Amino acid sequence: MAVSKTHPAERIRAAYAGGIRVFGENRVQEFAAKAESLLGLPDAEWHMIGHLQSNKASKAAELFGAVDSLDSVKLADRLNAAAENENKKIPVLIEMNVGGEKSKSGVAPESLDVEDLLLAAPRFGALEFRGLMTVPPFSDDADGARPYFRRLREIRDTIARRKLPGISMDVLSMGMSHDFEVAIEEGSTCVRVGTAIFGERPIPL
Ligand SMILES: *Cc1c(COP(=O)(O)O)cnc(C)c1O
Repeated sequence: MAVSKTHPAERIRAAYAGGIRVFGENRVQEFAAKAESLLGLPDAEWHMIGHLQSNKASKAAELFGAVDSLDSVKLADRLNAAAENENKKIPVLIEMNVGGEKSKSGVAPESLDVEDLLLAAPRFGALEFRGLMTVPPFSDDADGARPYFRRLREIRDTIARRKLPGISMDVLSMGMSHDFEVAIEEGSTCVRVGTAIFGERPIPL
């Protein structure tokens, strides 16, 4: 996945022309402003990968084809209603805060919040639960992220073994520009790469 946040529509079109089809954006408003300039790329997939406030769920459901940062039942409720309105199915990933950092979003692994989400899944007919996503604590050394990637994979395996209704666990979204090789070694099925594709972001986020 090419993470195109902060980059203008013309750079995204250039990446598309170069063969990229899956894009990640982290802000509803920013993507809303660019979306009109990105019409006519039929097989492009737009993923929301940033924290999503429930009051922006309906705008997100309109703009994005997938939400990789689901982190509460409340958000799932809003997103499901919005997806029903839009007459579409939205694939979702549950975002896990594997490092337990206060500054990061995502549900705490093995918490009641995760259980609530997993058990509520069958109620959300317009959402397709596909797997897990994480942003580990930053470390200069890519190998520093390895234990967190491994932990996410183990959590995924544990959930998958339960064969819960409405839950599939095929996707493990982990790894960014500085650590995607390590993430792939630990089982990532989707790396989210921004800087290594588009260069430094114009605005630090
Ligand atoms: C910005 C961002 C990325 C990409 O980060 P890079 O270090 O530029 O590759 C990946 N995932 C999320 C959730 C992001 O917000």
